[in-house]
Amino acid sequence: MNKSDSYDIVIIGGGLAGLCAAIHLGSHYNVLLIEKQSYPSHKVCGEYISNEMLPYLKSLGIDPFKNGAKDIKRFEMSTHDGSLIKAVLPLGGFGISRYTFDQLLFEKVKKGCDTIKDTVTSIDFNEGLAAAKTFQIQTKAAKSYTARYVLGAFGKRSNLDVQLKRSFIAEKSPWLGVKAHYSLDMPEDLVSLHNFDGGYCGVSQVENGVVNVCYLTSYESFKKVGDIGTFQKGVMSKNRHLQRVFEEGKCLWDQPISISQISFSAKEPVKDHILMIGDSAGMIHPLAGNGMAMAIYSAQMVSELLIEEDINDEANRKNIESMYTKQWNTAFVSRLKTGRSVQRLLLSPLATKISLQAARLFPRIVPAIIKKTHGTAQL
Ligand SMILES: Cc1cc2nc3c(=O)[nH]c(=O)nc-3n(C[C@H](O)[C@H](O)[C@H](O)COP(=O)(O)OP(=O)(O)OC[C@H]3O[C@@H](n4cnc5c(N)ncnc54)[C@H](O)[C@@H]3O)c2cc1C
Repeated sequence: MNKSDSYDIVIIGGGLAGLCAAIHLGSHYNVLLIEKQSYPSHKVCGEYISNEMLPYLKSLGIDPFKNGAKDIKRFEMSTHDGSLIKAVLPLGGFGISRYTFDQLLFEKVKKGCDTIKDTVTSIDFNEGLAAAKTFQIQTKAAKSYTARYVLGAFGKRSNLDVQLKRSFIAEKSPWLGVKAHYSLDMPEDLVSLHNFDGGYCGVSQVENGVVNVCYLTSYESFKKVGDIGTFQKGVMSKNRHLQRVFEEGKCLWDQPISISQISFSAKEPVKDHILMIGDSAGMIHPLAGNGMAMAIYSAQMVSELLIEEDINDEANRKNIESMYTKQWNTAFVSRLKTGRSVQRLLLSPLATKISLQAARLFPRIVPAIIKKTHGTAQL
């Protein structure tokens, strides 16, 4: 093996978590980022990012607004029958497509790290002598790398979750995500969440005035219809706000993109000595609109820890793993719990209607719930 195939840190997966960690760690260590897809590409995502991580992104030299991001301040939510509630977002956020945002981060990563387009097929930790305690990483292109630390940033569901025998992979994941960009008249400072039978749909602007329409639906609800066009017309459009989106909006793509088998089950922030970040560590329900900020925050958390601690002293590994687990749990466990409860509520038309009436009587409820699924701005 070449010396160049040996790294301090290998990051597997170049979504928001992996890219931010690569930028942060690249100026301190010899880092390799392995991503299986090429940049830029579209991803199923609501593309509304909470301002929580804006100061950290700026510290990494990333300014989304210089790249056309929309400043989003207002939120509205409709029930299945189209009744509407409006709120001001406590922290606000911005709208930018993953196509642009991931590419922007990737350009920065390339300045400080090695990057490779390949699919990792296995990660093994060598439990042998202390001096040999490193990871072996194999890829589809039959390449092999070693690293002292591995960051698992491989998203919601990956071939590696199967290799690592993670328990969530054996459970049922009956959720489907669909997204497309539209040309549609809507205010640029607004993010809308519209409920329909079996799911909910986020609508908000990204750069260039394009509107992102992205929904999550139960497979149960979708399979009664079976195709995206009929589902949007027949099921989603029963909510008049979504009817307007699909009737007045013009889809800018040949067809929407979709992902299936989305799991919200609990995962572990550390598995087989791999430090998991982003969705690999745990996924919040998309209605919270905070998965991307959490992905970026976990990247910041792990990067600071690996910079503070001596990663070449094997005796530190246990300590690093337990400190990361503790920090991750403190930052995210209660957000995930709130996200889960709100999702349960929104999927029931009756519960949504009652909650809406309560929110009209007590208007502070909505910002309070939003705050519980979001953090404060991280510096
Ligand atoms: C329907 C839906 C709507 C959402 N809307 C929002 C929203 O509006 N706001 C918000 O904040 N969050 C939202 N989210 C959540 C958000 O998209 C995720 O939390 C975020 O993308 C997590 O980033 P990540 O870096 O962990 O994962 P990803 O961005 O998924 O990146 C993982 C990367 O790992 C790569 N990879 C996987 N396996 C391998 C391998 N073996 N080898 C090499 N590379 C590999 C993949 O190609 C991928 O690029 C939404 C999610 C869904 C499903």
